[in-house]
Amino acid sequence: MDKISIMEASVRKWQRIIDGKGGDGGVLDCPPCRIFYMVVCFGCPIASYSGKKFCRETPYIPWYHHQVNDHGFMRRKIYCDECVTLATDMRNYMSEIVEHLKAEKASKLNESSQDDPNPPAS
Ligand SMILES: [Zn+2]
Repeated sequence: MDKISIMEASVRKWQRIIDGKGGDGGVLDCPPCRIFYMVVCFGCPIASYSGKKFCRETPYIPWYHHQVNDHGFMRRKIYCDECVTLATDMRNYMSEIVEHLKAEKASKLNESSQDDPNPPAS
């Protein structure tokens, strides 16, 4: 899976949470964590986008704190309107990263075609 597919899987995970069809198991069911967490959180698209490891300074932190402080150590899912707002922020953040990765990929493709000294004759 490339980074874009991984992040798209993350958008789908948060959409399921918003729809009340799923819960958040953190590292265990976070698509990028499953691949990149490995003790040190290395190479995750979220970390390279935010510049912070372990999802610091992302909408995941307010979600996590709200879950623990207001709903206790139950399964992290939608319990109240605040949960919906926070999960929506997280889903939007994941889509923002998907867009960022797509733009990055598109600009790389443009660069390599400009660098080609001998474009194929048509
Ligand atoms: Zn709540």
